[in-house]
Amino acid sequence: MKRILLVGPPGSGKGTQAEKVCKYLNIPHISTGGMLRDAVSSGSDLGKKVEGILAKGELVSDDLITSIVGERLGSGECAKGFLLDGFPRTKAQAEALDKILKSYPLTHIIELVVPHDDIVRRLLERAKVQGRVDDTLDVIENRLKVYEAQSKIVVDHYSGERLHKIDGSKTIDEVGEAIRRVLM
Ligand code: AMP
Repeated sequence: MKRILLVGPPGSGKGTQAEKVCKYLNIPHISTGGMLRDAVSSGSDLGKKVEGILAKGELVSDDLITSIVGERLGSGECAKGFLLDGFPRTKAQAEALDKILKSYPLTHIIELVVPHDDIVRRLLERAKVQGRVDDTLDVIENRLKVYEAQSKIVVDHYSGERLHKIDGSKTIDEVGEAIRRVLM
């Protein structure tokens, strides 16, 4: 059974690769960004609460996101494995996740590594195609700053043999193949 964590900065291709992996392993894709964006578009209470935070590229509170993820991980759909994308993003979230997964820890931690300039270019490209409100240059720079400041700590939290670093600047297929090799 595979319980996978995919980490990497915004625009590193996490979402694309996560979808591929979840398809061939037939496991749920737990994307916190996706869940929050869905909440915003549905206009739910949660959506109203987080809308402004997402638009600025800031992080929603650790307690809020941890309880959303905890609920999802505790549901039957995750009993046969899962892939986490976008969580944990802070040290506090990583520690909370360790507690949630105490008796069934993560089996694979994969980090996609992509140079800063490539990421800005990719995110601006995505802004043109998808029209995400948080893909403008200012917000992109802010999201990368937030990533640098907080989320690297998450990678450090998982140093050791379970952490696999993959060059995310290659083509989608090449990165996909490298991930597949790690998961075999
Ligand atoms: P993403 O699609 O993963 O880049 O997430 C989009 C936005 O959702 C982020 O910029 C944050 O505002 C919010 N978000 C997603 N995951 C988290 C998390 N684990 N902790 C806090 N905020 C999050």
